Amino acid sequence: MLNACIISTGTELLLGSTWDSNCIFLSQRLNDLGIQVIARFTVGDNREQMKNAFENALKLADLVICTGGLGPTLDDLTKEIACEVAGCQMELVEEEVRRLQDYFSRRKRKMPEANLKQAMFPPEAKILKNLKGTAPGMYLKKNGKVLVLLPGPPREMQAMYLQEVETQLKKDFDLDNKHSTSCTIKVIGPGESQVDEMLIDIINNSHNYSLALLAIDGEVHIKVTAEGENTEHSKQILQEISQRIENTMGRYVFGHDEESLAGIIAELLVKTGKRLAVAESCSGGLLARMITDLSGSSRYFWGSVTSYSNEAKVKILGVKEETLENYGAVSRETAEEMARGILKSSGCDYSLAITGIAGPDGGTREKPVGLVYIALAAQEDCKVKEMHFAGDREAIRMLSAKTALDMLRRHLQYGGV
Ligand code: AMP
Ligand code: MG
Repeated sequence: MLNACIISTGTELLLGSTWDSNCIFLSQRLNDLGIQVIARFTVGDNREQMKNAFENALKLADLVICTGGLGPTLDDLTKEIACEVAGCQMELVEEEVRRLQDYFSRRKRKMPEANLKQAMFPPEAKILKNLKGTAPGMYLKKNGKVLVLLPGPPREMQAMYLQEVETQLKKDFDLDNKHSTSCTIKVIGPGESQVDEMLIDIINNSHNYSLALLAIDGEVHIKVTAEGENTEHSKQILQEISQRIENTMGRYVFGHDEESLAGIIAELLVKTGKRLAVAESCSGGLLARMITDLSGSSRYFWGSVTSYSNEAKVKILGVKEETLENYGAVSRETAEEMARGILKSSGCDYSLAITGIAGPDGGTREKPVGLVYIALAAQEDCKVKEMHFAGDREAIRMLSAKTALDMLRRHLQYGGV
């Protein structure tokens, strides 16, 4: 398998003031291409550190991709050092000088002399256009290795990678004929160790595929990578093994690859022309936030009421005062009345309601922190789930909202909860 090293440059990354998102983006894209990232270096804008990183990375890997330090200022050293390590001389490229002059004249500014270094390249390199900024990138094949330099600002880096680098890598490394291919199967309900247990036979018998589990925000993502003799073969292995996983995980599977739970629900509601309303207590609006994070959600989302106080539950949702007195705000009965109340006033087809104790205070022996009731109401019916979540306030809110979405998903897909 081909391997790669990523170098992130910038003193701000070492100080912790900037999160190294370039590295995450490139790792994901390269792995998806079937290139294994074997090491990542983060170095400051410092000649010695950068030289070291390039020397080591070129020793270790077939491909080295570096981001940052292509600007015009004194601390932008990347190209100069990379060329020195790779043994190339840079020359002024007339076409690049004209492009820079154009860029400045269109903005009615005089080009500073320092910008000229952005027009210096070794003649054997391919210059990568920057459609979103001034610093071009560089793609160099030398001694059987590939060295790529990309700008630091994530928008510029991503555009350049997607427009130019990926296609070139596929050509140079013959990646269209993939020996490995992967997909992600997303489940919700069981925790990571439970998924692990359910898949134990599939995990233990793997020889031409591998499984990696990732627990994230109440979901478990199962990444399956199949290794075959060619594209067709690896796809066939992937298909077979994914099918076995899906059969085992059954209704816990909610989506694949880039799909999200809220996105799946959006599709299901749009397809059936149904609409949803929400009443939230302990989740404080998080469920509505998850739904409205998707643009176009007004097609199926009526809106939500964050009924945090008892008064709001009574006045806005029509929860009965006796219900609150007899059973409390965190109860099966209150959850049901919240859901029925918002269903009635909105006139929607479905409603979800959440009431619980997110902590850290407010728990008792009978009603501990993490106790949450989630109700799903439809015209004919209302179902309430009692959940006992672990974690801090943020985790309990997130799990409450996700579980509510999942109740609706199961209802829409299977008619149950
Ligand atoms: P540079 O091209 O090194 O001048 O970087 C310009 C800006 O891009 C920096 O100030 C950062 O805000 C951003 N940047 C650079 N490297 C990274 C990185 N690895 N991840 C995220 N942002 C970055
Ligand atoms: Mg920098």
